[in-house]
Amino acid sequence: MAGLYLHIPFCKKACHYCDFHFTQSLKQIDEMVDAICKELTMQSEFLGRDSVYTIYFGGGTPSLLEGHHLKKIMKVIQYEYDLATNVEVTLEANPDDLTPEKLQTFYRHGINRLSIGVQSFNDENLKWMNRQHSGQEAIDAMHNARQAGFENISIDLIYAIPYEDHSVWKSDLKQAIRLGAEHISSYCLTIEPKTAFGKWVEKGHMPEIDEDFAAEQFEILLDTMNKYGYDQYEISNFAQPGYESKHNSSYWKDEKYLGIGPSAHSYNGRFRKANVANNAKYLKGLSENQIPFEVITLSKEDQVNEYILTSLRTKWGCSLDLLKQKYGVDLLMQHRDYLNKISLQDLIYEEDEHLILTNAGKLLADKLASDLFIYTED
Ligand code: SF4
Repeated sequence: MAGLYLHIPFCKKACHYCDFHFTQSLKQIDEMVDAICKELTMQSEFLGRDSVYTIYFGGGTPSLLEGHHLKKIMKVIQYEYDLATNVEVTLEANPDDLTPEKLQTFYRHGINRLSIGVQSFNDENLKWMNRQHSGQEAIDAMHNARQAGFENISIDLIYAIPYEDHSVWKSDLKQAIRLGAEHISSYCLTIEPKTAFGKWVEKGHMPEIDEDFAAEQFEILLDTMNKYGYDQYEISNFAQPGYESKHNSSYWKDEKYLGIGPSAHSYNGRFRKANVANNAKYLKGLSENQIPFEVITLSKEDQVNEYILTSLRTKWGCSLDLLKQKYGVDLLMQHRDYLNKISLQDLIYEEDEHLILTNAGKLLADKLASDLFIYTED
């Protein structure tokens, strides 16, 4: 089983926190779709014989695609790849693009899951983050999506927004629940150096993220999700029963994926590669029948540590068996004293040969994972 990721590198506006790869000029969108179709054909052997069970349009803003773009891309995918039955096809969307007509087009072309970048329903927050839409537009987008037939919708929300009090965060969560989102992804605001927020923090025009405040909002998130029946299957991802994202899970479970488009990453079980994060270079390469990418070589240590970091964030935890079978690493032996200590502190437990974080442990997930990393001597 494998996943397919398509990067659509266009946005109407740059959100102040975002450091993803995109351009605000939409001039080359047709050319980009043609290049993506060409790359899909050129890469059709990358996943070997594995069937594709999840397709994900990410970005950027894939909801800027028109029906004829999607039609072209889906046609190539159906022709070149072996699709599993019930393939999950997700499209990331911004609320302001989701008109009834556009949603019907998406649905008709095989999109069966939407991931809507709401971030907040509060207009002040949205304006401050330089989002393109209002809270009401996000609510309308959800209603329009239901009307068009979508039964699997995820909402993205951001917490730890400075100047916000807890009542705004609670009201954002309640609104997402009231709208019946099957899935909620919620990320702590992070300040990346090259973004507008990064520059504001550097110049002292805005505060750093307050860790205690972020932890309080995370606890509100956990309590609310738990109260309304959402399962926290990954630290930042919550789903109603049966609505976990197959796409997300494939990354955390060390499965193969093929990334198409500028800046997209791929992994085929043996090595990882990254396409060039530059639209002009990507388009030029494809026009010459070349895919501009670099191979990322991961040492055994890198692979093990990456697995520990991602798996500990999930409800399934870190498989001690997988580490032994695949990498010859006995994590219990290597970190016996430390594991005893953190299990006495009620941060982690072992069940069915898996290490799993408790709720208290989840608050310290990255630190606990890095303490469990392995280091080989050079
Ligand atoms: S719409 Fe999404 S990808 Fe584009 S700038 Fe905003 S957060 Fe980044």
